[in-house]
Amino acid sequence: MFRSSHPFNIDRIHAAAVTCSDGRWGHQIDDFLETHLALPRYDRVAIPGGAGCLAGHLTTWKEEAVFEHQLALLVEVHELSRVVLVAHQDCAFYTVRLRVAGDELEKRQREDLAIAADRVRRLHQGMQVESYFARRRGHHVEFEEWKIPDGR
Ligand SMILES: [Zn+2]
Repeated sequence: MFRSSHPFNIDRIHAAAVTCSDGRWGHQIDDFLETHLALPRYDRVAIPGGAGCLAGHLTTWKEEAVFEHQLALLVEVHELSRVVLVAHQDCAFYTVRLRVAGDELEKRQREDLAIAADRVRRLHQGMQVESYFARRRGHHVEFEEWKIPDGR
């Protein structure tokens, strides 16, 4: 038996983060969401490539459908009002699955996050959606906001 030292808090924060499954970025993303954005206990939607699968790529339409169902459930049951999209540098979803690399990679991720944010807003009226990019700086990870114009 193992007992976690972290006490259970029953309150929901009504926010979710959509992130890549890549566990190497997990602690830093938690730190960013919980400390910087002040969203403890945020709901986690982790899928390879994060919101990249919501950007209408033909090769990932199945993931897209699953993702939409997952998010819709959380929106309804957990009454989400805020969704945070986080992409990360050198994401294998792009380099391996979509075969995008080099200078094109970050540009494509930026476009995809904008498309995904727009999609989430259209699926869920009134949802506050933000996008961030996680980048390695030496042994650390920095997060920058990628502003998305409303009503694209
Ligand atoms: Zn990734």
